[in-house]
Amino acid sequence: MAKCGPECEETLREIERFLDHELDDVIRVKVERHLSGCNECTDKATFRVHLKALIQVKCAEHEVPEGLRDRLRTLLATVDTGFDRG
Ligand SMILES: [Zn+2]
Repeated sequence: MAKCGPECEETLREIERFLDHELDDVIRVKVERHLSGCNECTDKATFRVHLKALIQVKCAEHEVPEGLRDRLRTLLATVDTGFDRG
């Protein structure tokens, strides 16, 4: 941790845009070079990649959770039965 210097700060500041491929080539190469030699920044970059992927997956899930679906089905069945009995 003591090794973290201005280069790490700069890298972490650009990491978001680096992952979104929005950096200029010059800065991108600089970030890549730093990442290849700095485990700490690589860890943080990897974490962000996972986080991004997780958020994308979560946002893509529009399905109702299984537990809730079962409860709704049970509820509907109960209502139907009630109507049948008059
Ligand atoms: Zn670093």
